[in-house]
Amino acid sequence: MADVKTTSRASTASDREALDHRLIAGNLSLDFVNTLNGHGRARGHEYLHDFRDLVMWSRHAGLLPSSEATRALRESSLHPFAAEREFRETIRLREILFRLFACSARGRRADMADLRSVESVWREGQRHLQLVSSGRSYLLGWDDHPILESISRSLCSSAITLLTSPDIERIRMCSGEACDWLFLDTSRNHLRRWCSMDECGNRAKMRRRRLRLKAGQRS
Ligand SMILES: [Zn+2]
Repeated sequence: MADVKTTSRASTASDREALDHRLIAGNLSLDFVNTLNGHGRARGHEYLHDFRDLVMWSRHAGLLPSSEATRALRESSLHPFAAEREFRETIRLREILFRLFACSARGRRADMADLRSVESVWREGQRHLQLVSSGRSYLLGWDDHPILESISRSLCSSAITLLTSPDIERIRMCSGEACDWLFLDTSRNHLRRWCSMDECGNRAKMRRRRLRLKAGQRS
């Protein structure tokens, strides 16, 4: 985002890719899982290439306020190895979450090892919850230490909330060819098939039209 101050290098093509990522899922943790299109494929489309991308995307998705993003970038330039490790761990979490959500979309049972892994990340994050007063009431929020881990903590918490909510039954996978983006189907008739009509929906429409034309030429 334009208002995030950069501390180590100028904006790159990779930054722009993270900022161009379309947030179509209707849920933060599903949008995060969609930062790769083509899980398990050798040539998937990756939007996140390093910790900096993760920070920029988090700002783009509304997860980190600008001031926190700036702080995370500053911290990552001071501790590049820790930032790289945290990035790898967050990507590992993303792939586990994809498998769990994809199982829900396909009506399959999740792998127990994946459940335990997410549970472990979530449990670790709970140590950073704190009770803060807000007027006459109280809120449960996160402390900000360590800042590098705050992104994966929030994403894991968002994922657990979805996994344990009735919305889990509304997770769908795009029917587009070579697209495995996930989304929450909140349509009235629950028949949404595409990540977006502009992309996969239109491509499928064109393909059907081509097939009809071909069939017409043959008859
Ligand atoms: Zn799609």
